[in-house]
Amino acid sequence: MAVKHTSVSYIGMNSAKRAAEDFREIRDHGCDTVILAITEFDVDFYLPSLNGIVKAAHDAGLRAIADPWGIGKYFGGEQVSLFLQNNVRHRQVSALTGETLNAACFNSSAFRDYFLQFCLKIARNTDVDGFFWDEPHYALPKSYASLTGSAGEDWACRCPECMEKFRAYYGYEMPRLLTDDVAHFRRREALKILADTSKALKAYKPSLEITCCVHATLNSYYVTENRGYDDWDMVASCPYFDVFSTTILRWDLPEKFFREIGERTVAAAQRYGKQSERWIQGYFNQPQDFAQIDRTVDLYDSLGVDRLATWTFRGCAGTTVAAPDPIALWDRIGQNFARVLKKEG
Ligand SMILES: [Zn+2]
Repeated sequence: MAVKHTSVSYIGMNSAKRAAEDFREIRDHGCDTVILAITEFDVDFYLPSLNGIVKAAHDAGLRAIADPWGIGKYFGGEQVSLFLQNNVRHRQVSALTGETLNAACFNSSAFRDYFLQFCLKIARNTDVDGFFWDEPHYALPKSYASLTGSAGEDWACRCPECMEKFRAYYGYEMPRLLTDDVAHFRRREALKILADTSKALKAYKPSLEITCCVHATLNSYYVTENRGYDDWDMVASCPYFDVFSTTILRWDLPEKFFREIGERTVAAAQRYGKQSERWIQGYFNQPQDFAQIDRTVDLYDSLGVDRLATWTFRGCAGTTVAAPDPIALWDRIGQNFARVLKKEG
């Protein structure tokens, strides 16, 4: 068993000088990769600074991966969205109430074009080594039973564009209930934006590595969250993805759950010849006993997980989502990353 890469995410794309210092600390915390959480505002405003930050990462011996953080509120994250600010259309719509939601419809041509151009702009203006698709999801994602609570039976998206696409494909009006046809439609359309953008990025620069990170849900007969990327085989088999990744689990979930998600992540990746990645919570919440971090890293290593990653630099210290002891948490995760990466080296 061998962990091949270790990553931490990094927020704040405005100063290469400051980033260079942080990147040395990241390297000293056993990471060989930094995932740059790049906001829509960063690209709109700080674009001239961006490649200096990527170069600073390379100078520190790190790979630099671009995460279009929270884009359109389609990906996960706290950032605000310029797309939503600048467009009153192309938003997701609640199936049951018909209300417009504060999330871009990623099945709309407008957002698909925006997302593609956003990513190509980063690729053309910087030397990033790849892209990270960060928790893509439909708004009102949780449906049917969910272990983590449910938003009820509502779902998205039933906007005019989705309804038109559905009718063109199935020949009848899109139902208000989440039928099998609707579930298939949502998954097929959800994958299209990421597949098309990944393909375009690789056409521009074949060496760009693509990671797709989906929510770590049980996906059992009774429990699924219907976020649009719950069919892991469908996601992992996409030919334009190199790494199949699953998101953070809260530290207070049963350790059995960590094993199950780890095993299924590795299995899904291996079925399609992809590398596997597991995320470790490094913000907001921390284990009662930090030895759980050591056990979790050992568990993932023993399961054959290829890559480990944590959100985020310094336990998100100084923010409203900081861990209770952010630096101690960051240090312990870093010690573990150094330990498993060294084993590989
Ligand atoms: Zn829609």
